[in-house]
Amino acid sequence: MVACEQGYLCDVCGKDVEAITESDLYLRYILGEVSPLALPTLRERHIRCNPATAQYIVDPAFEPVRCEGMFAKEQMDVAYVAEQEARVTRAWRRLQEVPKLGIPLTEYPLPEVRAAWQRHT
Ligand SMILES: [Zn+2]
Repeated sequence: MVACEQGYLCDVCGKDVEAITESDLYLRYILGEVSPLALPTLRERHIRCNPATAQYIVDPAFEPVRCEGMFAKEQMDVAYVAEQEARVTRAWRRLQEVPKLGIPLTEYPLPEVRAAWQRHT
């Protein structure tokens, strides 16, 4: 399989996911929810096209996303929501920075994710 840097289509809306900074896949990779080996095999999605995760991004630079239905954060435990907002927002901010940092892909994830990987190797 030939992997290419650009030209991945969103699994939800069908439009191009033009930049890594708007990729739900890479956001979840930074969160440690996707392993580096699984990364090339998974379908790409826009962050905004996955409201269940995007609703937890709380940053002035990110227009808030509302998630409806059973995964809406209004339905969740307050402490859980606060924890998710802190974690997902931190990962989103890191995602906005990584293209400028010039670091290898394996250093993209949050520090605690990388530390957990290192304990396994
Ligand atoms: Zn999309």
